[in-house]
Amino acid sequence: MALLRIRKYPDPALKQRARVVDNIDGEVNAFLDSMAQTMYAAPGVGLAATQVGDSRRLVVLDTDHQHPGKHLLKLINPRIVEAEGSILWEEGCLSVIDYTAEVKRASKVLVRAWTPEQSEIEIEAAELQAVALQHELDHLDGKLFIDRVSRIKRELYRRKLAKMLKEGKTDGQPPSHIRI
Ligand SMILES: [Zn+2]
Repeated sequence: MALLRIRKYPDPALKQRARVVDNIDGEVNAFLDSMAQTMYAAPGVGLAATQVGDSRRLVVLDTDHQHPGKHLLKLINPRIVEAEGSILWEEGCLSVIDYTAEVKRASKVLVRAWTPEQSEIEIEAAELQAVALQHELDHLDGKLFIDRVSRIKRELYRRKLAKMLKEGKTDGQPPSHIRI
């Protein structure tokens, strides 16, 4: 299995809306394995197929840093069916280098998804796991967390990024924070 290349903002692939998977086969499962491997290597707590230039509704997620791999979720066609409360979370993203920002999200979500074993599951998530699921589902709709901050903050980030890239100051790595 090869590591997949993580696309970085402003790569237009990140704006693609992913399509529903209608057949869970060996290829989909192998791809989810490659996504998980890429997520752990990054390292990050979640990765959406959109971030590696694939346009299917696939997400891998593991927010348990203490026991990597034990609570790995491989989700096919995930969707939020219930959301409640609100929480502010300092988010970072594997596709957005050198930037974190507070984003307002639902504090609890109920997500329905299909697994590689072709069963439909429900996940009740709170805090980081809820934030990460909402962040990943945004990716599947072509949306980044920087689309959820104010226009001024986004514009300041764009300028900072352009300057860093011009001066060769960035190594292309996301910030050392929890990255989703
Ligand atoms: Zn992200």
